Amino acid sequence: MGFSGFRVIKEALTGHRGWGELWRNLEPKPEYDIIIVGGGGHGLATAYYLASVFKTSRVAVLEKGWLGSGNIGRNTTIIRSNYLLPGNQPFYEFSMKLWENLEQELNFNAMVSQRTIINLFHSDGQRDAYRRRGNAMHLTGAGGRLLSQEELRGIAPFLNFDNARFPIKGGLIQERAGTARHDGVAWGYARGADRRGVDLIQNCEVTGFRIEAGKVLGVETTRGFIGAKKVGVAVAGSSSRVMAKAGMRLPIESHVLQAFVSEGLKPTIPGVITFGAGHFYVSQSDKGGLVFGGDIDGYNSYAQRGNLPVVEDVIEGGMALMPMLGRARLLRSWGGIMDMSMDGSPIIDRTHIDGLYFNGGWCYGGFKATPASGYAFAHLLATDTPHDTATAYRFDRFARGHVVDEKGVGAQPNLH
Ligand SMILES: Cc1cc2nc3c(=O)[nH]c(=O)nc-3n(C[C@H](O)[C@H](O)[C@H](O)COP(=O)(O)OP(=O)(O)OC[C@H]3O[C@@H](n4cnc5c(N)ncnc54)[C@H](O)[C@@H]3O)c2cc1C
Repeated sequence: MGFSGFRVIKEALTGHRGWGELWRNLEPKPEYDIIIVGGGGHGLATAYYLASVFKTSRVAVLEKGWLGSGNIGRNTTIIRSNYLLPGNQPFYEFSMKLWENLEQELNFNAMVSQRTIINLFHSDGQRDAYRRRGNAMHLTGAGGRLLSQEELRGIAPFLNFDNARFPIKGGLIQERAGTARHDGVAWGYARGADRRGVDLIQNCEVTGFRIEAGKVLGVETTRGFIGAKKVGVAVAGSSSRVMAKAGMRLPIESHVLQAFVSEGLKPTIPGVITFGAGHFYVSQSDKGGLVFGGDIDGYNSYAQRGNLPVVEDVIEGGMALMPMLGRARLLRSWGGIMDMSMDGSPIIDRTHIDGLYFNGGWCYGGFKATPASGYAFAHLLATDTPHDTATAYRFDRFARGHVVDEKGVGAQPNLH
């Protein structure tokens, strides 16, 4: 079933009886060439690129719940490639390029909207840091430029420019950044993978790995043993728990991150805006809700819900930045489990177990990475070599001391 304007009109005129299911609901086969554990954005994108780019057949995605039930359907939908470090910038720019063509490639409306992101600065030192970041972005063609306070007043007049503690002096804008509909991304990749023969198995939790003589032979699941030549794990917030079943202890802690949405308002916020003096970021959904978030809850947890002190902290940041937020009513809040790595950057690598591969440590920045992460993980699974843009994301960087610490806060996962 393809999507087109013609099809939409035809279905509208015939009572919408012709739409089929987006993917098949399958029983697991006894064996696959490659099993992907985790039906989130990264797992589904990996399966899609394995089938479409690397022409791998006999691929399955095993998901313990339903496709898209994890962080892919819980994030604040921001996509951007405004990174500083050489290990990160080319990777996120690769992802941005994939975003730019994603809907055409998948023939699916994921509502990718390049509506800009502006990172505000509040001091001369912060302006200089953003200038440096902007220059790094230009090295990969990511774009970006500094906005004066005057220009910013024209774009976002509702900001509290003259706040005595955190005066807003300007911002770094990336015009190509923006938002995408998060669950639409999962559905688009799932449909694309299914159409290329990938088996998507829901309600199938991986409960263990069968490993013999240092080689993985398959996975134990709630639906029995499934054999595989290679297994790729992409379970985000559950990374430590799942990899512990293979006897591995990861440089990752799991924390909760919350997100919030207000009642629907008239169009107010032009793109994504981030507060430079506190942790707060906000955009406006197409339905009109202000979508915002801030810091993680700061204690280790596998619960998909957060605590009230963080709600207060996030709203405080929002009120300092744009006091008019106090007039809007909060509609909903929710939480997801973040796989926070020791340097704030991800891992896409082989493990010491033959045939077992790992993708995780996305902290709270993994949504924007979904296309590149899937592509790079598929590259690694298919060719056994890292993709050019993901060579920094190895396990051994912690042993070698070559960490990719974008924030420069050291080995403290809750601060990244
Ligand atoms: C509130 C919030 C806001 C965020 N905002 C942003 C943002 O604005 N921009 C951005 O770039 N990133 C953001 N993120 C981060 C981003 O959502 C994640 O980094 C990314 O989605 C993680 O990858 P994933 O999609 O594969 O994860 P998930 O969707 O969590 O996928 C992992 C899947 O693995 C499954 N699983 C777990 N254990 C097993 C098992 N044993 N067997 C089988 N399946 C299993 C889970 O059920 C889940 O479906 C945010 C996250 C949250 C929670």
